[in-house]
Amino acid sequence: MAMTVNRAANSVSRLHCLVTRQQFPQFAHKISAITNGVHHLTWISEARATAFNAFPALQNWQRDPGVFARVKELHQDPAQGPRFRSYFGEAWRKDTAILYNYLNTMLARHRNQKLETWIDPPNFLSSLDDRHCRMDPRVFTIGFARRFSTYKRADLIFDDLDALCEIIVTNHWPINFIFAGKAHPADEPGKSVIKLIIDSQQELYKRSKGLANLIFIPNYDMKIAKMMVAGVHAWLNSPKRPLEASGTSGMKAAMNGVPNISIMDGWWAEGYHEGLTGWKFGAEGPVAEADLSESPESLLYREDAASLYQILPTILQQFYGNEQAEPSHPHHCPFLDQAIMNLSLNVPIFNTHRMAAEYLSKYKLRLPPAQEQEMNHFRALYTSDCPE
Ligand SMILES: *Cc1c(COP(=O)(O)O)cnc(C)c1O
Repeated sequence: MAMTVNRAANSVSRLHCLVTRQQFPQFAHKISAITNGVHHLTWISEARATAFNAFPALQNWQRDPGVFARVKELHQDPAQGPRFRSYFGEAWRKDTAILYNYLNTMLARHRNQKLETWIDPPNFLSSLDDRHCRMDPRVFTIGFARRFSTYKRADLIFDDLDALCEIIVTNHWPINFIFAGKAHPADEPGKSVIKLIIDSQQELYKRSKGLANLIFIPNYDMKIAKMMVAGVHAWLNSPKRPLEASGTSGMKAAMNGVPNISIMDGWWAEGYHEGLTGWKFGAEGPVAEADLSESPESLLYREDAASLYQILPTILQQFYGNEQAEPSHPHHCPFLDQAIMNLSLNVPIFNTHRMAAEYLSKYKLRLPPAQEQEMNHFRALYTSDCPE
């Protein structure tokens, strides 16, 4: 009905546009795309904001997210570059410390609750003694938080625990997985994925010889989202392609420079640049009718998990560098370099200023001349498109 009565329909990424036209061929002429964005003022952390404020080249970043394109020159400038790296790395460490304080306080609280009520805590770590309960912020930290729908495959990275733990144990690379999210109350399969995540904690801990921890933060909301996207070292997104229309939590991570590890779905097909913004894994290529299925047997767990295990060692190697004993915080240089390039490439594009400007021009909504000029500037940052 919506397609019939409206004169236009918007997809929220380039790939989503192709898929929507495939789903509704009779309305293909009405369907176009404006790629989503997130509100940079909401999602850039306080510590990152303070760091950016210290550089005249980034002046006005609050009003104009396009300013972040200058981060590349700033980074390469012999006089300013080292200072920028140091400020940015320090801000990241602060955000990680905030996240770990939250985690450690939460784990201790759950442990006390267990002693008082005999109710199992939502995290296996809370059932260990105090010494084991303190999580180490120097450990490579992967974040995952979103609605628990089956197509988002939150449990994909734990599909083959043997393969995952072999990477971790052989190289002695510790990892912390921080997960959060809610399922719709009526979504029974979605809720069972949450249970599966919580139930794998102990097994992961045991098989990785204590090197891998999986923590679930209950009551996911925007506050927790903001803390996570700034505090983790990489953001994981593992939906079944092409079912993630856009995905926005990964953009929130990118606003803080945090690289994504993602399936080439939704916005990531536009935001991924090899070696510069993060990593890709899983199926790619043209989308067939059968790929649109959300049925359990067509979710491609085995294939996409294997692809993820293939790239994981490269990521860990880049984070830890060559020193095995002590993680080289501040992050090993190539890791920090990539985060800085991520800022300069993706913040100017995946923000709501640019998105709103594109909507205004597509639907010929008029603004006073002064604002119109500002909108033109934002439109010049990127043009969403939908290839034929
Ligand atoms: C951003 C956000 C979402 C949406 O995340 P996706 O990656 O688009 O699924 C859901 N819930 C909260 C609290 C968020 O902040």
